[in-house]
Amino acid sequence: MIDAKPPAIVVLGTGASQTARRIQARYSGALIHGLANRVQADVAFTELSAHLRELYSSNTPIVALCAAGIVIRCLAPLLADKTVEPPVLAVAEDGSAVVPLLGGLGGVNVMAREIAAVLQVAPAITTSGELRFGTCLLNPPAGYVLADIEHGKRFVSDLLAGSTTRIEGTAPWLDQVELPRASDANRAIRISPHVSGNAGELMIHPRSVIICVNAVRSDDPIAERIRRALLEAKISPLSVAAMLAPVSMMTSARLIEAAHVLDVPLRFGAFPDGFETLRSHDEDLAISIASHPVDVTNLGQARGTLTVIGLGPGSADLMVPAAKYVLSLADDILGYETYVRMAGPFKPNQILHCTDNREEMQRARHALELASTGRRVVVVSSGDPGVFAMAAAVLEALDAGQSNEAWSSVDLNILPGVSAALATAARAGAPLGHDFCMLSLSDNLKPWAVIEIRLRHAAQADLVMAFYNPVSRARPWQLDRALEIVREYRDGTTTVVLGRNIGRPGETLITTTLANLHSDQVDMRTMVIVGSSTTRSFPRGDGNGEWAYTPRWYE
Ligand code: SAH
Repeated sequence: MIDAKPPAIVVLGTGASQTARRIQARYSGALIHGLANRVQADVAFTELSAHLRELYSSNTPIVALCAAGIVIRCLAPLLADKTVEPPVLAVAEDGSAVVPLLGGLGGVNVMAREIAAVLQVAPAITTSGELRFGTCLLNPPAGYVLADIEHGKRFVSDLLAGSTTRIEGTAPWLDQVELPRASDANRAIRISPHVSGNAGELMIHPRSVIICVNAVRSDDPIAERIRRALLEAKISPLSVAAMLAPVSMMTSARLIEAAHVLDVPLRFGAFPDGFETLRSHDEDLAISIASHPVDVTNLGQARGTLTVIGLGPGSADLMVPAAKYVLSLADDILGYETYVRMAGPFKPNQILHCTDNREEMQRARHALELASTGRRVVVVSSGDPGVFAMAAAVLEALDAGQSNEAWSSVDLNILPGVSAALATAARAGAPLGHDFCMLSLSDNLKPWAVIEIRLRHAAQADLVMAFYNPVSRARPWQLDRALEIVREYRDGTTTVVLGRNIGRPGETLITTTLANLHSDQVDMRTMVIVGSSTTRSFPRGDGNGEWAYTPRWYE
């Protein structure tokens, strides 16, 4: 099954935070959207109506932790247009009431029940068919899908008006439902992967069909061929549980695109037993039908994903939403223990692999290995993953293991983060406002002589310099030596910014000068920004220290 789009949980005040987090934990990938300056959230917005309308128009399920009336008023202008109707629910801030408002056919009552179960309250269900029959016939459980919603609505109102129905096929969830059944009814609920032309039938398709693709030719309109084959076999495209292809086709862009167009999961591996395979004219395609919905997680493997993300300097609001999203979907999270902890909280089924900071290559290989088995793997770094961090280590491992086909097939992505130099610069003002360079003062992975040469050249070129890894217990003298070199080229009055634990508890920021800078003000959690000849500072209006900046022009 393809995961449903995760809901946006909208909060207006801190009073709702706890309820919001309980709901968030229920839905993979759900983000909390908070009113800017009022609540800490994954996504900030400034105007509620505009934000709700945007979510609604993009068909995103909305769980709004505020009065139902507010939500209705905000969305009212859009309600005449029936092209999209995502589930929309209002939930009381304290979690005491769950009210499904819109999206009856998009599963709003199912969501209301799910959220009510989390909050241990009764959902305010008002849909008559659902109240009468104890289930929404138009919302079958996972593994089944309704063929036609408009038709379904008429079918349910006919039943409410007194019609009876038969059940054709296997629908175990209907056993407990008090439907007006009659074996001779002229209406039927039919559970079948095939299409039906009978207007008196409510068609529900089990996701029991697998499309096996054995070869894809170049410029092959594969999605179109699948559609045609289904049409010939009179099978509904809604019955397709997955596409299955040999492992050797894992990186086929055409195949990936076809699965996207058809909106079905793509799996790779050997063909399983227990299917009836239809004869087809197309030798590269086979349509296979099981007697029950197919659990795709047991069908071969997915193409694994490996995403290398940056957490930003520390606080959650400086992590990019795309990184939060992949974290919420991850099966495995790898990284230096401190950073993995920072990336939490995690769900019970997520596996954490915490390692020492120095085992980067081993961690990179482990990540590729896990992803090559089909898992969704995330490697975390602080700041940006490409700045003195894990992205280069992962690429180095992949480069060295190029003959490893399983590694090369992994869907690898790198997501940027706010690097320590940028986070520190923003706190201080704009010291990186003109040309600058980033240097690591660590001689663990490069000779000290190289660092000295680079320092000299950067100092000579009058670049602003951001020093990463300025000192550590094992590297006590390096910063003093670096400053000695810089002082050969730069005046003692040069502006220097020291950011320590930026975005983390106990953050400190000091704006000083090169002459006044002492290495004992600096530790391994400090970012040192040494200004250029044009970097300057002036007192802040609130009397709280200074603003430092480097003008955009140069003389
Ligand atoms: N990938 C990270 C850098 C890793 S190197 C990034 O892009 O930020 C580690 C060094 O980064 C530390 O020694 C320190 O100099 C700096 N650093 C990382 N996080 C920091 C923070 N929150 N505040 C100040 N400096 C930080």
